[in-house]
Amino acid sequence: MTATDVLTGQLDLLTLLELESRPTAPLHFTVGHYHTDELDEAYAYRAKSEGILGVSNWSRQWNEWRTGRNVAAGSPHRTFTYGADLRCHEHWRNPNCQCLGGLLCRVYCHDCDWWSGIHDSENRAVEDMLSHCWPGWQELPLVTATMKANGGYKYKIPEDYPADWQYPGAPVRTLREPMGSRHVPGRSPWGGYDIGVINNTK
Ligand SMILES: [Zn+2]
Ligand SMILES: [Zn+2]
Repeated sequence: MTATDVLTGQLDLLTLLELESRPTAPLHFTVGHYHTDELDEAYAYRAKSEGILGVSNWSRQWNEWRTGRNVAAGSPHRTFTYGADLRCHEHWRNPNCQCLGGLLCRVYCHDCDWWSGIHDSENRAVEDMLSHCWPGWQELPLVTATMKANGGYKYKIPEDYPADWQYPGAPVRTLREPMGSRHVPGRSPWGGYDIGVINNTK
């Protein structure tokens, strides 16, 4: 429904027809095992009836963070990141807000049909997924990456880097500076996660 629809009080026929079939996932927060398609459908359903601001701010429904897509071609573990905002209405305005809600997220592996645990940190959710889909990731040798002048990153992969971790979708662990610790999807030399490891030696 567009803003104009709200103002004029009109819903077009197509919208009404689409609203008739209820989605299978609930129109509120859930910890149930739903497929991402079902969550997307439920989110779109509510967005249609309440508008995108209503669904994104107050619905508490899981929705995909496009910035978390990790879907390299040929990867055996293509993953998606979903977030649910449980914070109260006052959260941004009131520094004394004491609500227990947080901004939660979890990662779904399409190929394993598996959800990570629910975390209030994107990195923790990604690490859950890595432990499930890429066991042994914590033992990968740390490498360094430098930003290229024309954008993108150049990774220094040593000669003796494990060969069985060099295929589509494989993650890499890179040494980072504080503040730059986000695990970045799709950025490893093989199109998997670039896992940030903070450099504590400085
Ligand atoms: Zn997987
Ligand atoms: Zn709050």
